[in-house]
Amino acid sequence: MKEIVIISGKGGTGKTSLTASFALLAQNAVLADCDVDAADLHLILTPNIQKKHEFWSGVEAIIDPALCTNCGACLNLCRFDAIKETNGAFHIDPTACEGCGVCARFCPKGAVRLEKRLCGAWMVSDTRAGPMVHARLGIAAENSGRLVSTVRQEARRVAEETKRDMILIDGPPGIGCPVIASISGASAALIVTEPTPSGEHDLLRALELTRHFKVPAFICVNKWDIAPEKAEQIEKQALANGATVLGRIRYDKGVTQAQKQAKAVIETDTPSASDIKGLWKHFQQQMEKENQP
Ligand code: SF4
Ligand code: SF4
Repeated sequence: MKEIVIISGKGGTGKTSLTASFALLAQNAVLADCDVDAADLHLILTPNIQKKHEFWSGVEAIIDPALCTNCGACLNLCRFDAIKETNGAFHIDPTACEGCGVCARFCPKGAVRLEKRLCGAWMVSDTRAGPMVHARLGIAAENSGRLVSTVRQEARRVAEETKRDMILIDGPPGIGCPVIASISGASAALIVTEPTPSGEHDLLRALELTRHFKVPAFICVNKWDIAPEKAEQIEKQALANGATVLGRIRYDKGVTQAQKQAKAVIETDTPSASDIKGLWKHFQQQMEKENQP
């Protein structure tokens, strides 16, 4: 089974729009929206939720007012400033609590308990591009890396169950823990970038990551025609770093129009739709080449 992750150095590079188009072109893929901090694949593919599961991770401290004597001993023990006093009574700000447990350990009255933290939810849905596993992280909830791993694991299960041989992962932007959770062990990574100095910088960082995890990297320059020379320079850099240049996508106002209509770009006849179809074809050829003995 192939797991293809689509990533970018930062948000807003057209990564999600490309993932949706690829999923429709693939016809036989399971989608995994691993951009759990800012999931938006659902805005294009309008999923019909079939199963929903709570995502619990880590712990948070809670003060039992019946046991607390409001002595204030815990206040200065919290390094995260999560313990608050209001009119002489103590409580914990769940968005600031890191669950370290110090307050629970040192409270003389045993008034603090640590409870599992509800951090969000993950869902399995039907979409017009195939099954999709996606998630929602709660406000200020952390551990998105673990949620990403959960989404990937579930996508694999769905792929096996529905006998699909490809998982298309909409990865998180950047190079942090959630991205690492998205790309480690993937069959290939497609890095979407733009022809700007920051696009080049982000691409090189992403390539370091794919190299580290030994994931074959492909790149595509989106909106290449806003700075053709930079696009060329970026492609040269990518080649020098061992990546395969998959192709380019032109700047196209029709992309925003497609998003407004909850459509993938290839569901419209806007000019960049043909660029994306070309990219997909090239990508398939590359994958077939890799499969050859
Ligand atoms: S140390 Fe315990 S008893 Fe004292 S304020 Fe904190 S929670 Fe309440
Ligand atoms: S568990 Fe740690 S972070 Fe949370 S309130 Fe207690 S001391 Fe602060």
